[in-house]
Amino acid sequence: MNERYSRQQLFASIGEEGQKKIREKHVVLIGAGALGTGNAEALVRAGVGKLTIIDRDYVEWSNLQRQQLYSEADAQERLPKAIAAKRRLEQVNSEVNIEAIVGDAGAQELEMLVAEQRPHLLIDATDNFDARMVMNDVAYKYRIPWIYGACVGSYGLSYAFIPGRTPCLYCLLETVPQGGLTCDTAGIISPAVQMVVSYQTAEALKILVEDWAALRGKLVSFDLWTNEYAAIRIDAVKRDECPTCGHHPSYPFLSYEQQTKTAVLCGRDSVQIRPPGRREYDLDELAALFRRQGLQAEANPYLVSVSLGDKRLVVFGDGRALVHGTKDVQEAKTIYYRYLG
Ligand SMILES: [Zn+2]
Repeated sequence: MNERYSRQQLFASIGEEGQKKIREKHVVLIGAGALGTGNAEALVRAGVGKLTIIDRDYVEWSNLQRQQLYSEADAQERLPKAIAAKRRLEQVNSEVNIEAIVGDAGAQELEMLVAEQRPHLLIDATDNFDARMVMNDVAYKYRIPWIYGACVGSYGLSYAFIPGRTPCLYCLLETVPQGGLTCDTAGIISPAVQMVVSYQTAEALKILVEDWAALRGKLVSFDLWTNEYAAIRIDAVKRDECPTCGHHPSYPFLSYEQQTKTAVLCGRDSVQIRPPGRREYDLDELAALFRRQGLQAEANPYLVSVSLGDKRLVVFGDGRALVHGTKDVQEAKTIYYRYLG
């Protein structure tokens, strides 16, 4: 028995067989912030065969409170996170092959990496909508499990998406709580991070040892400050017409040349959405389309305005849109893509 992993192998659900499987597996980690460093350390200590870390950022002082792989020297040097993480992880376990990629995990980059290397698992440690939608498409296209994780403040949530078994993130857009967007403004405490990391790495280990029956199968959410906890079964939200996991997938987030651009319009309770690529709408036709869906829509030569309860979607001829009644970018994007595809 390898002394290093002896305690993990004594755990009956892993054992020597499981340890061998972990050793043969390749995990791609997208993001090397708080969730990323937590996941990376756990998997590297567990003895994963290869870990690829993608991150576009560098280490700052404000990261040190919760991003466990980084030191003051890393912040001083403004070392790229992927590089700093690799250096530290190689000190932790030199047996693991660690690949550091300093860059964006955009649609093209991520798809190329996954198509070439065929990893066994993707782990979400990002903080934004676009990256997760891209990851979702790549994962379902190449039939690779991916583990969603998000946290903000004292709140967190996680879910393991398994192509062929579970709904995908696209299916969930309308039902998932929209928390965990970004911690830049809302703040975050490290136990919330560690909790999400634990939910992610537990499911990761089950996937790596191929103990599929042990997977939680539920979307878990918690708030460590208000002491709330929920685990919800979400199988029912799987949609046959889903563009990512349905019968005729088009993987919409892989065909975008650029990312969707958004801006919160300060003091106006509105979000602007600029979709990538060129769009051209016949506004009268668009208004008629909305009306056929039973919506109240008005067109003028410049825009179509649709009433959606307490929200209003205003679409311009080039596809630019304003979502009024929210400051929540993710909610605005959900509305945009639900009605304009
Ligand atoms: Zn889906």
